[in-house]
Amino acid sequence: MEHLIPDVEAVDRQPELLAIRKNLVGMTRKEIAAALVEAGEAEKAAKMRARQLFHWLYYRGADNFDDMTSISKELRAKLPEHFTVDRPEITNLQESVDGTRKWLVKFPDGQEVESVHIPEEDRGALCVSSQVGCTLTCSFCHTGTMKLVRNLTAGEIVSQMMIARDTLGEWPSPKGNRMISNIVMMGMGEPLLNYENVAKALNIVMDGEGISLSKRRITLSTSGVVPKIHQCGEELGVNLAISLHAVTDDVRDILVPINKRYPIKELLQACRDYPASNNARRITFEYVMLNGINDSPADARELVRLLKGIPAKVNLIPFNPWPGSNYICSSNNAIHRFAKIVNDAGYSSPVRVSRGQDIMAACGQLKSASTKERASARRTANA
Ligand code: SAH
Ligand code: SF4
Repeated sequence: MEHLIPDVEAVDRQPELLAIRKNLVGMTRKEIAAALVEAGEAEKAAKMRARQLFHWLYYRGADNFDDMTSISKELRAKLPEHFTVDRPEITNLQESVDGTRKWLVKFPDGQEVESVHIPEEDRGALCVSSQVGCTLTCSFCHTGTMKLVRNLTAGEIVSQMMIARDTLGEWPSPKGNRMISNIVMMGMGEPLLNYENVAKALNIVMDGEGISLSKRRITLSTSGVVPKIHQCGEELGVNLAISLHAVTDDVRDILVPINKRYPIKELLQACRDYPASNNARRITFEYVMLNGINDSPADARELVRLLKGIPAKVNLIPFNPWPGSNYICSSNNAIHRFAKIVNDAGYSSPVRVSRGQDIMAACGQLKSASTKERASARRTANA
């Protein structure tokens, strides 16, 4: 039993292991106040301090307590004993020839995700991850091949936005034009399988005293976790995007296997009932164009039939290949023939221009670089 006796000396040499400091990033105002009370602050003062901290964190983007000049010097000195406001580490930042940026973000447990910024002339969207990897295994998606999967915490989701704003110099929250004007929950992971954390993170991002991004500028993309769709519309009111990709259950079962649990009919009913959609805020149906699989004129006509009665627009995504993928992108002709049929039926159906191809930042290519490196190192070692 000797080995169970704690090694006091070793602990003494590493005092930082004794003090587990809480990270305030990802906490709501209420949670910050509760944490302050726990750290010895009086309840009334804690409420006021929490408002100040919330402002410094999410409006001004402070990444240390020293900068928080409206907070008394005394408290500023005490806060780091209990708390941190640390960002996760950026282990790689790449910029594409078209201006698209991709961050590889590493959390304290060593897990990594990617976030991507897609700039437009006077605005831009940040593509945010909700999980490390994804438990779903859509057959055309690189993220779905990752072995390790865990949910991100609300803090880890919000931090992706904070890091991107650090890089782009977008603090304090600008009133007018923003480089990060929109958020799309289209990075790694299935956001509705991590609903609680995603909801908390988006509520923080939407808070008018912080980052202050309108629900109209946030889009959540789901592969079709039907039981969570209504709740998402009711509680968050964000725009919805559905990864449809096929018009028959037979084909969709293969492309998006969660279809076996929630087939097309149920999914489309959830869309009809989505509380936050109307003619001004239509639901986006994403449709990846796969040669010979889902791209015929008959498929296009069936899509039109299925969407009847839903305020919808269609986003056609040319398939982005990745090392080892089994599909081929549809020809330009097939894509435009498909788009025309959908468009003639009255649905906007733009073909999504692939951005950041040269840095593997395009839709469905996200898979943390270090996982890829580890995998290729294994292949080399086995060779
Ligand atoms: N898990 C969520 C959100 C992340 S994926 C979802 O599936 O909706 C974002 C979009 O990229 C989805 O529509 C997804 O189906 C699509 N996608 C995945 N792999 C792709 C690839 N290789 N080429 C093009 N689009 C892809
Ligand atoms: Fe997961 Fe979306 Fe990729 Fe499917 S497409 S494996 S749901 S990230």
